[in-house]
Amino acid sequence: MPERTVPFTKAQMEKIILEFPTPFHIYDEKAIRENAREFLKAFSWNKGFKEHFAIKACPNPQIIKILKEEGFGTDCSSMPELLMSERLGITGEDIMFTSNDTPASEFKKAMELGAIINLDDISHIPFLEKAAGIPELICFRYNPGPLRKTAEGNTVGNPEDAKYGVTKEQLFEGYNIMKKKGSLRFGLHTMIVSNELNADNLVLTAEMLFDLAVEIKQKCGIELEFINLGGGIGIPYRPGQKRVDYKVLSERIRKAYDEKIIGNGLSGIQLRMENGRAITGPYGYLVTKAIHEKHTYKEYIGVDACMANLMRPALYGAFHHITVLGKENSARDHKYDVVGSLCENNDKFAIDRELPKIEIGDILAIHEAGAHGYAMGFNYNGKLRSAELLLKADGAVEKIRRAETVEDYFATMVWS
Ligand SMILES: *Cc1c(COP(=O)(O)O)cnc(C)c1O
Repeated sequence: MPERTVPFTKAQMEKIILEFPTPFHIYDEKAIRENAREFLKAFSWNKGFKEHFAIKACPNPQIIKILKEEGFGTDCSSMPELLMSERLGITGEDIMFTSNDTPASEFKKAMELGAIINLDDISHIPFLEKAAGIPELICFRYNPGPLRKTAEGNTVGNPEDAKYGVTKEQLFEGYNIMKKKGSLRFGLHTMIVSNELNADNLVLTAEMLFDLAVEIKQKCGIELEFINLGGGIGIPYRPGQKRVDYKVLSERIRKAYDEKIIGNGLSGIQLRMENGRAITGPYGYLVTKAIHEKHTYKEYIGVDACMANLMRPALYGAFHHITVLGKENSARDHKYDVVGSLCENNDKFAIDRELPKIEIGDILAIHEAGAHGYAMGFNYNGKLRSAELLLKADGAVEKIRRAETVEDYFATMVWS
């Protein structure tokens, strides 16, 4: 199995660690920019194509700033995410507000910012009207339920179990109500796949929405202004898995667009997407040091990070590749559980993982930690959130979030 590369050498990382102690997340600016450009270029055939970075995947202002410079908007689902967009100068229809179970205050803020409101339910129409009024542009989140089949005839994920979105009948009703209430511009959205590496399923989603656009025109007399295909493009966590080829994916979506949208006399529907994982996931690393080894019924390596820094392995049993710096070419002839220090037995970054022999002090880079990594951090067991660093395009390293201190942790508590 070929070793996955990291954008730093052991010597470089040792120098970085002198200034910024482990553990930390480090993001590769150059790779993020290149990936963002490649993504937008692939879809440039569609006039006005917009990618809204799902903030939840990597909520750091410096990362979002980089993506804004590359032409991305944001996808928000909470007040702080809306406020973060606003503070970075991202407003108006560059924000997609896709929330569910939404508080009135958030609808109000989203409307103030001129964000695109994506309604999760038709019962939210009177709720929105009361909270903030009726927007000119409105979008609905569609949940196809049992209507969604894969190429093999199985439902993807299981939309019927998902709390999100409206049924087809509700969708038509929703557009009709909003039209009566004065909305003039309309969008359609769905998000039914997650970490999807099979382009077939991403194309199927597009085809389903394109067919639906035609039906919406027939049933409601509405020509959609945009279709948001959602996020969910997967990334290869495991060595040997292949990344989604944006160009191939985009060309297949274009073919469906030409046939179903253009072919049915609909003109110029803008496409939007809201990926998070594929945009930053592969370009972030959790860097941690081996501080203990333990030999009992199994071989353990204890590191100075824990599942509070990266929860995916514990939460989903997710695989994250590990590079031991300086041992990239050594035989992976040892089998370890790589563990953190939480009082939870699932605090393991890897189980029975074949790795080179690890010595105390070795630096480990845990891959694909650039999305849903730091973001899912928490304070259980009094664990403090670690720092985030940016490996800049010119090779310099900048701290883009300091580590939490005990004072931060104590600050919200009442002490007297
Ligand atoms: C989580 C989420 C996304 C981003 O998902 P990724 O897997 O990171 O691409 C986009 N839209 C909505 C509504 C989401 O909940």
